[in-house]
Amino acid sequence: MAINELKPLLDELCLNINGFLNENGDITKEHLAEFLKNSAKLISDISDNDLSSYNSDKNLLADNYRNIAKDCLTSYEQTSNQISKLSKKHKEAIDACDIEPIDLPKITSKFNEIQDHMIDEVAKANFIISELSTQIKDLEEKSNLDPLTKIYNRGALNTYLNEMCENANEKYEAHLLIIDIDDFKQINDEFGHIAGDKILIYIAKILKKTLRDGDKVFRFGGEEFIVILNRIKDAQCMTISNRLLRLVSDNKLIYKGNNIGVTISIGATKLKVGDTPDSFITRADKALYKSKHSGKNKISTEPI
Ligand code: GH3
Ligand code: MG
Ligand code: MG
Repeated sequence: MAINELKPLLDELCLNINGFLNENGDITKEHLAEFLKNSAKLISDISDNDLSSYNSDKNLLADNYRNIAKDCLTSYEQTSNQISKLSKKHKEAIDACDIEPIDLPKITSKFNEIQDHMIDEVAKANFIISELSTQIKDLEEKSNLDPLTKIYNRGALNTYLNEMCENANEKYEAHLLIIDIDDFKQINDEFGHIAGDKILIYIAKILKKTLRDGDKVFRFGGEEFIVILNRIKDAQCMTISNRLLRLVSDNKLIYKGNNIGVTISIGATKLKVGDTPDSFITRADKALYKSKHSGKNKISTEPI
């Protein structure tokens, strides 16, 4: 065992003796001798293994400390490099632009200018949108089609009936059906207006699909349709009308999980020579009234 390896233990022993003397004011020579004897025994009991492990622990600790210190220094050095790089960039960025002192009133007035400009643009856009909407509406009115159901509209019906009445003769057999959805207001109330619109589209489709090429379907208004059946006898008119009633009542429209059942009522009449569009429609309307007042979901006729 090298003498310098004992140094830490001797230092510790001195400290202990000092502590012992301070704690015991009236200490005798015997007490001191006893204390030293115990201390000497303590030292002689320390084995080489204990010392080497003590030293290896110390070395391990020192190594760890050294490594930690080294890592700290490296990390500090890296951080410091990054910071100085950032500072350099920051300085370069500041040097690159020659900022005048900020003029708040000028900025505010510029901002207000931009905002006014935007308000003007929005107003212009709104004006254009409303102009376009009016134009679309005009076009729809002038066109022959009903925008919702995509079948002929009332304007087209007027043109068609005018021509038809002008050309009416004894041989020309044509029938007019006026079709009105039953309790439509209630359907709108129960399932909503959109559901109502879907039903109008659905009925229009059934009418178009069921009728022959030469027949014509028009949306007369609201929940009313007019069908012109060309070149048919009375019996055929009844057959077709009954088929329409059944097709509508047998099918249910599923909308948002609701099964919506619909029925229609029909009023039918035949074209007579001398009819005007008005008289022709009024007669069919009388027939419709009969259907409505005798339980709905049926066809009634009005003789000429
Ligand atoms: P009735 O069996 O006697 O014909 O009763 P009804 O409820 O069908 O008739 P009413 O005349 O009382 O109501 C018609 C309803 O049709 C009222 C109206 O809001 C609705 N309607 C008209 N046009 C449209 C439309 O384009 N879409 C929708 N969803 N509803 C419409
Ligand atoms: Mg109606
Ligand atoms: Mg109705």
